[in-house]
Amino acid sequence: MNIVVCVKQTVDTAATVTVSDGEISWGDAPLVLNPWDEYAVEQALLSKEAHGGKVTAISLGPEGAKDALKQALAMGCDEAILIKDAAFDDADSLVVSKALAASITKLGEIDLAFFGRQAVDSDTGVTFAQVARRLGWPALSLASKVEELDPGAQTIAVERMLEGSRQRLRSKLPVVVSVVKEINEPRYPSFMGIRKASRAEIPEWSAGDIGLAEVPKAALSWPKVFAPPKIETECEFIEGEAAEEIATKLADRLLEEKVI
Ligand SMILES: Cc1cc2nc3c(=O)[nH]c(=O)nc-3n(C[C@H](O)[C@H](O)[C@H](O)COP(=O)(O)OP(=O)(O)OC[C@H]3O[C@@H](n4cnc5c(N)ncnc54)[C@H](O)[C@@H]3O)c2cc1C
Repeated sequence: MNIVVCVKQTVDTAATVTVSDGEISWGDAPLVLNPWDEYAVEQALLSKEAHGGKVTAISLGPEGAKDALKQALAMGCDEAILIKDAAFDDADSLVVSKALAASITKLGEIDLAFFGRQAVDSDTGVTFAQVARRLGWPALSLASKVEELDPGAQTIAVERMLEGSRQRLRSKLPVVVSVVKEINEPRYPSFMGIRKASRAEIPEWSAGDIGLAEVPKAALSWPKVFAPPKIETECEFIEGEAAEEIATKLADRLLEEKVI
C-alpha cells in the first residue's frame, strides 16, 4: 500500500500561550509533532505493517517543521517531505490544502492519506476535508477504528466516533481518513529509529515543484487575535454545624445570587 500521512508542527500543549497587542507567544516552549498527528502516523504504520508498502510523511511549514517530520521518521515512516516556500507564508487552510493535495498528486498512486482530526494551534479541523475535496476522494472523518482494509478489493471500513454513538462506514480507496485518539496508542520512537531519523536528509518541495506556478493569496485573514477576558473568581466557604444547615445556607446564597 502506498500511504501518506500529513503532519503539522505545533506548539506543545503544555506551553503557556500569551496574547499581547495581537501577538501570540509561547515563550521558549518546544514545538512538537501535532499530538493528533501522532495517532495518524501510528495508523499509517499499522496499515503498512498489516499489508506492506510505504509510508510518506509530508508537512507544509518552515525549516523547523523538519523536526516534526523527523519524529514521524523515527516512529517508522519510510520517507518525509517538507513543503516549504515563502509563497505559503500566512496561508489559510484553502492554500494549505491546495499544496497538500498537489503534493499527494505528485507522489503518484496513493491508496490512503491519514490526517489528525485537527491541529492544536489553529484548530480549524478542516484541512483534511479540503484535501479530500481537491483530490476528489471520499473523506472519512473522526475515525476511531479501522475495521477492514483490503488492498486487493481496494476498500476500507472504519468506525467513526460521534457524540453518543458510533457509525460504520465503508469506502473505496483512495481515501482521506482523519483520526481521533481512540484509534490506537502511538508508539515511542525506537533508539534505532531516532538515529536513522537524525541522519535523514529531508527533501524540500517548493510551490513550483508541486506544480503550483501561482499560489493563491489566503482568502482569510486574522486581523485581531486577543486573549479571552480574565474571569475573576472569589471563593466563599459556607460553614455550619450540620449538613442540613450548610445546605440551607448554600441554597439561600444561590437564591440571593439568582443562580437558582
Ligand atoms: C492566529 C491564527 C489564526 C488562524 N485562523 C485560521 C482560520 O480561522 N482559518 C484558516 O483557514 N486558517 C487559519 N490560520 C492558518 C492556519 O494556521 C493553517 O495554516 C491552516 O488553516 C491549517 O489549518 P489548521 O492548522 O487549523 O489545521 P487543521 O485543519 O485543524 O488540521 C487537521 C489536520 O490537517 C493536517 N495539517 C494541517 N496543517 C498542515 C500542514 N501545514 N502540513 C501538513 N499537514 C497539515 C494535519 O494532519 C492536521 O492534524 C490561522 C493562523 C493563525 C496564526
